[in-house]
Amino acid sequence: MNESTCRACGKPIIWMKTKAGRTMPCDARLQLYWQSDEGSQRILTHAGELKRCELHGIPEEASGMGRTPHWGSCAQPDQFRKRGKANEPGRV
Ligand SMILES: [Zn+2]
Repeated sequence: MNESTCRACGKPIIWMKTKAGRTMPCDARLQLYWQSDEGSQRILTHAGELKRCELHGIPEEASGMGRTPHWGSCAQPDQFRKRGKANEPGRV
């Protein structure tokens, strides 16, 4: 795993590979997650799957541990949004 530091906010992040082969900046801290179809959060599991979930719940009922994508907690998430979309026509 690639430990790194976010250039935007200076927090420790880890680059994780998704099943699709993309690398995704995630918060370094492992978190418990509760898988839920209506979950408001996303978590990247060790299997590389991005799952919809909640990050709070009853510990005994947790689905497992994973890492949250860093753009959810970054102090400057715009840094992530700009990349990739900047070249799309018609977008600011
Ligand atoms: Zn950041």
